Amino acid sequence: MSRESSPQSGEAPPLTAEAVSPLRAWIEVDLEAVRRNAARVAQHTGLPMIPMVKGDAYALGVLPIVRVLEAVAPYAYGVAVPDEGEELRAAGIDRPIILYTPCLPDELGRARSARLIPSLSSAEQITAWVALGGGPWHLVIDTGMHREGIAWDAVDMLREVLQTHAPAAVYTHFHSADADAESIARQEARFAQAVAMLPTRPTLVYADNSPAMARRTTSPYGATRPGAFLYGLSGGPHAVIHPDPVVHVRARILELRWIEAGETVSYGATWTARRRTRVATIAIGHADGWRRALSNWSDGLVHGQPIPLIGTVTMDMTMADVTEVEAAVGDVVTVVGTDGDRTLTLDAVATRAGLSPYELLNGLRSRLPHRYRGGAR
Ligand SMILES: *Cc1c(COP(=O)(O)O)cnc(C)c1O
Repeated sequence: MSRESSPQSGEAPPLTAEAVSPLRAWIEVDLEAVRRNAARVAQHTGLPMIPMVKGDAYALGVLPIVRVLEAVAPYAYGVAVPDEGEELRAAGIDRPIILYTPCLPDELGRARSARLIPSLSSAEQITAWVALGGGPWHLVIDTGMHREGIAWDAVDMLREVLQTHAPAAVYTHFHSADADAESIARQEARFAQAVAMLPTRPTLVYADNSPAMARRTTSPYGATRPGAFLYGLSGGPHAVIHPDPVVHVRARILELRWIEAGETVSYGATWTARRRTRVATIAIGHADGWRRALSNWSDGLVHGQPIPLIGTVTMDMTMADVTEVEAAVGDVVTVVGTDGDRTLTLDAVATRAGLSPYELLNGLRSRLPHRYRGGAR
C-alpha cells in the first residue's frame, strides 16, 4: 500500500484511504532492527553472508528488506523460486542471487536469463545448465535432510561431469540445527566426506542457517545463509547471539461489552467468564494470519499492560479480557512485538500455541498492510 500521489499544482494532495480512516490492523516492520540483526551476524561470524529473502523475505516485503540489507554488503541473496530472483533483478539488485530449490527443467532458461545461480545435483541438470551457456552454480549435498541434493555417499557418481564443469560452491542444509549438536556433527561428517570426494575443492564450502550460525563460536565454513535470525526469530535454545524483535502486529479495539459470570465467548464456547467481564473485540482474525491455534493461548498488550486473548479466534475478530485495564474503542492492541516495556516475541507466542514461529511469521501475509519503520525507504 504505497502512498502514491501526483498532486497537480495548487491542489491539495488527494486523500489516501489512510488519511480518511485509521488502519484497523497492521504489521509494523522495524527495518533498523533488521539492519542491526544482519550486522550482528556479520560481526559474530566474520563471514560473508547470504541473507535468505525467499517467501517475500519471510512475508515482510522483500524490497524494503533488501534495501536495508544492502547496508551490510551481502555476498549474495538467497531465494527459493525463479520469480523471486526475477523480482530482485527487476528492482535493480545486481548482487549474485542463488536459487535454493531444485529447478524444473524448463526453469533453467529463466534462471540463466535473470543471471540466477541454481542449486544443481545431477549430471543431467549440470549438463543442461552448461548447454544453456551456464554460469556459476552451486552443488547441493544431501547429508540427511533428504529434501534436495546428491546423497553424500553418491558424489562419486558425478565425478566425470564435475571434472569438466566445476561448481562455484558446495553446500548442505542442517535438519535440526536448533536441537542436539549430535545431528549437526553427523551431517558435518557426511558433508566433509562428500567434499573430499570432489575432484577439486570449490572456493566456497558452506552450510549454516540461522540456528547453526547462532550456536557457533567459530565456523568451519566460508559463508552463512541466515533467514529467520534477520527477521527477529530466535536461533533456538543453544544460541549464543540473539536478534532484536523486528515484527510488531497491532490491531484496534472495535467494540466493548460487559458479560456476566457463566457467559461464554466466541465459537464453540471455549472460554467461560468466571466473573463479570469486560470483553474487547479486536480487529484481527485468521484471515489476517492470526491463527486459530492461538485461541485461548495468547496475551495481547494494551497501553503496555498484558490482557488475555479469550475464546476461539474467528476469521476477522478476536476477543480479549480487558476487565483490569483501561481500554476504549480505537485503542491499539499489540499481539506480537513491543508495547511500552513489554515484548511478546514471535517465538513465545508461536510455541505456546504449538506453532512453528516460522509458520506464524510466514502466515501473516494475507490482509495485513505493512508499515515500515526506519531504513532507507
Ligand atoms: C530457508 C533456508 C535457509 C534459512 O534458514 P533460517 O532457519 O531461516 O535461517 C538456509 N538455507 C536453506 C537451503 C534454506 O532453504
